[in-house]
Amino acid sequence: MTPATSPEIPALAVRDLKKHFPIRTGVLSRVSGHVKAVDGVTFEIRAGETFALVGESGCGKSTTGRTILRLTSATGGDVQFNGEDVLAASGDRMRRLRKAMQIVFQDPYSALNPRMTVGAAIGEILHVHGIASGAEARERVKEVLVRCGLEAYHSWRYPHEFSGGQRQRVVIARALALDPSFIVADEPISALDVSIQSQIINLLVDLQESYRLTYLFISHDLSVVRHMADRVGVMYLGKLVEVAEKREFYREPLHPYSQALLSAIPVSDPTVKKKRIILVGDVPSPANPPAGCPFHTRCPHVMDVCRSVVPELKATDTGRQVACHLVHPVS
Ligand code: SF4
Repeated sequence: MTPATSPEIPALAVRDLKKHFPIRTGVLSRVSGHVKAVDGVTFEIRAGETFALVGESGCGKSTTGRTILRLTSATGGDVQFNGEDVLAASGDRMRRLRKAMQIVFQDPYSALNPRMTVGAAIGEILHVHGIASGAEARERVKEVLVRCGLEAYHSWRYPHEFSGGQRQRVVIARALALDPSFIVADEPISALDVSIQSQIINLLVDLQESYRLTYLFISHDLSVVRHMADRVGVMYLGKLVEVAEKREFYREPLHPYSQALLSAIPVSDPTVKKKRIILVGDVPSPANPPAGCPFHTRCPHVMDVCRSVVPELKATDTGRQVACHLVHPVS
């Protein structure tokens, strides 16, 4: 699938996306509530761009990625990929979208079938999608393995014969084999040794340049995001609280939660003094989120209005979006 050709159509447009998981209790498994893992998320990604979703573990960023790809069904909202309705697609259209929209998971150990050689696993996917089979598939497998920094003979090896970094290269090669234009990279380096993390990041950057890929890069590591992203979206309790161009975001985060997250990143220059903002309390349960601003139970700047009025994600005069009453005073 070719990326969006019109500059007006974003590669991906997500509107008011919701994923609520039912909580079932009792012998009859009655629904007694919902975990609002993703609760009204809206953002766009331009073709060839890397949009990073950041936030603490459990904030809903991985569920957002999976819901966009329909690995889990959405509770509500709209996802458009190059102008096509992803959530309503079926049959051939869905098969085409599945090929064009790929995912690289966090854990390369569980992402691969231990009983299949790498060549057989990638070849099977090529066959299922009707791209190639037989000798043609074998050539394609070798081509993508080499493109991802492995050797052609690795196609005969089993997953356990690879190191963690090599396995993640295999997972990326498997995604690349289908010639996608959009990849969700869900914490793609967090299960890897620090020594090889940068190699995988460099590979993703290199592939993006070569194939003009569009990335949704999901990470809790703001140092990595600084290297990878063009724009950043910060999630808290299933909602986006700030969306900004990377440079602006790292220079001056506007939302108090973004400020706290960024204050925790170490700076390489010892002459730069940075005040760490320590957040008190735990993240509230997404099954029982607080009224008003979801961050108000931990926010160092909380005001009365924050306890009852939900701040909407609104554009600022500098073009970024923030959900905070301090940035958009309530009249
Ligand atoms: Fe803090 Fe209030 Fe802004 Fe929420 S709306 S982040 S509680 S100041």
